Amino acid sequence: MRAISEMYMRSGGTASPRYCDECPNLTSIGKHYDCKLYQEAGGTKHWQPSWVACKFFGLKHLPGQAVPEEPEQEIDGQLSLFD
Ligand code: SF4
Repeated sequence: MRAISEMYMRSGGTASPRYCDECPNLTSIGKHYDCKLYQEAGGTKHWQPSWVACKFFGLKHLPGQAVPEEPEQEIDGQLSLFD
């Protein structure tokens, strides 16, 4: 299966007429292109900018993927709602 087909399956289809080269998740190292979200899902294949975009176009992370957040910090002098 082509790597992009896996992304169509995961995302629920294509985002035609957009292409991966318009998506902020397309990254490149040297001559190779990669999809950040495909890699986030554990994929290891390289990408083609000319592929028709998937429905995750422009998302920062895979939906439902737990993303570690910065712990909330209290600011000195900040009033709490519970004080
Ligand atoms: S997330 Fe962006 S780069 Fe990755 S397959 Fe979907 S449209 Fe292409």
